[in-house]
Amino acid sequence: MRTYDKFYINGQWVEPIGKGTSEIINPANGEISATVPYGNADDADAAVRAARNAFDSWSQTSAAERADFLRKIAAEGEKRNADLTQTIIDELGMPVQNAAEFQVDPLAIICESFANKAKDMEEVKEVGNSIVIKEPIGVCSMINPWNYPVWQMIGKVAPAIAAGCTMVVKAASQTPSHLFIFAEICDAVGLPPGVFNMVHGSGREIGAALSSHPDVDMVTFTGSTAAGIQVSNMAAPDVKRVCLELGGKSPFIITEEADLEAAVAFGIPDVMVNTGQTCNALTRMIVHESRYEEAVELAKAKAESLVVGDPTDPAVFVGPMSSAGQKQSVLDYIEKAISDGARLVTGGTDMPAGLTTGNYVLPTVFADVTNDMVIAQEEVFGPVLVMIKYSTIDQAIEIANDTPYGLASAVWAGDKDKATAIARRIRAGQCAINGGDANHEAPFGGYKESGNGREFGVEGLHEYCELKALQY
Ligand code: NAP
Repeated sequence: MRTYDKFYINGQWVEPIGKGTSEIINPANGEISATVPYGNADDADAAVRAARNAFDSWSQTSAAERADFLRKIAAEGEKRNADLTQTIIDELGMPVQNAAEFQVDPLAIICESFANKAKDMEEVKEVGNSIVIKEPIGVCSMINPWNYPVWQMIGKVAPAIAAGCTMVVKAASQTPSHLFIFAEICDAVGLPPGVFNMVHGSGREIGAALSSHPDVDMVTFTGSTAAGIQVSNMAAPDVKRVCLELGGKSPFIITEEADLEAAVAFGIPDVMVNTGQTCNALTRMIVHESRYEEAVELAKAKAESLVVGDPTDPAVFVGPMSSAGQKQSVLDYIEKAISDGARLVTGGTDMPAGLTTGNYVLPTVFADVTNDMVIAQEEVFGPVLVMIKYSTIDQAIEIANDTPYGLASAVWAGDKDKATAIARRIRAGQCAINGGDANHEAPFGGYKESGNGREFGVEGLHEYCELKALQY
């Protein structure tokens, strides 16, 4: 069991002001996997003051110096890869098969990516009698979710370091330990005091304090749309920049002439990985009516082939839901879908065979879903796919765009050009064409209620910049 009792503020491990503690429950077996301090708004205030005091000198460092720190963090992070991976298995329940690859390996990759981009901060643009320069925006509050804890954290911290910002980071209550380890990494590489600060506590108190603090210049938030709206409201009175990465209900259009077997083999693991707790999961499969039943059979077979169970077992692809509350929420959605008339193809509300404890939900596929059903409109955040039928491409695109969300999407068509033409009409920040891979160098973010910011790529760096025009 991991035990932490201090926060990392101003380059030191300090006694929390708030005296709470939080026990982290392993979702696979109900055991306590970590105990961490659970602070209050005064801890957030101390961390923001440290970040504010550090900003002036850190913002004047050269891009090369900051890139060097990012490379040192990458190297130190690789040494801690096994520790970080274990926190993901113990606190989130993600299977060992995927935990390092999907959650922890990106730490070094993303640090290297932004180390390479830091020099962009020193590039100037000439416009007539002006030059336009970039400056770091200032002190950043970073509030993260529990579903991809390391990936989300480094997707904010690395560009902020590259830009010359200082920061205070809060992890979700469910998955805190990686952030304590990351503070040890920052300490080991000698990052100047106050550049990176971490506190831990509830979103309601610490998250709110970090969103509204007058010394914070920018709040970057990843989580639910409901909490993102609250963060925006709290940040509004002093006009902070707010970068939101929120929920999704992403469509996957499969056309009549697509390679159906390949498309379904791509779509099912995409939904089920991390037990469906993925913001950009392709949870609505939209299939041409002439291939629909064939697709349903392929989806059933693929979903039933995934091994469900103990996340420490290397054969397992689908682990438990992250918490009992999350499991109950998913079961409620499954029951609602059945009562609304969706056809349960596989999965449902039973425990997987051979399991009696743990927050498990079977990989579940629904057919005969119409896009007005709750199961097609709301983010379930569990291993649940809905399959919707269409007859014309215009109708498929209309269905794809008919939710409040716009985070990700996918199209599988007869060829790349046909798929791209459809992708251009989908209102979402990303589209995977005929099985295209995720890319850490490309911007990631949402349209509509999926958010207003971009992470990764040079666009992810620019979120942390102000522009200044110098006139001559
Ligand atoms: P959440 O409940 O909104 O929590 C996210 C973070 O916000 C947590 O650290 C939480 O703290 C904090 N928080 C909650 N209420 C807050 C408030 N009123 N003010 C300030 N902070 C607050 O979301 P989640 O359940 O952790 O994550 C799942 C959601 O994140 C899904 O909707 C998913 O789609 C979305 N997500 C989006 C992306 C993306 O890039 N677009 C990536 C990953 C996840 P506590 O944990 O202490 O409550």
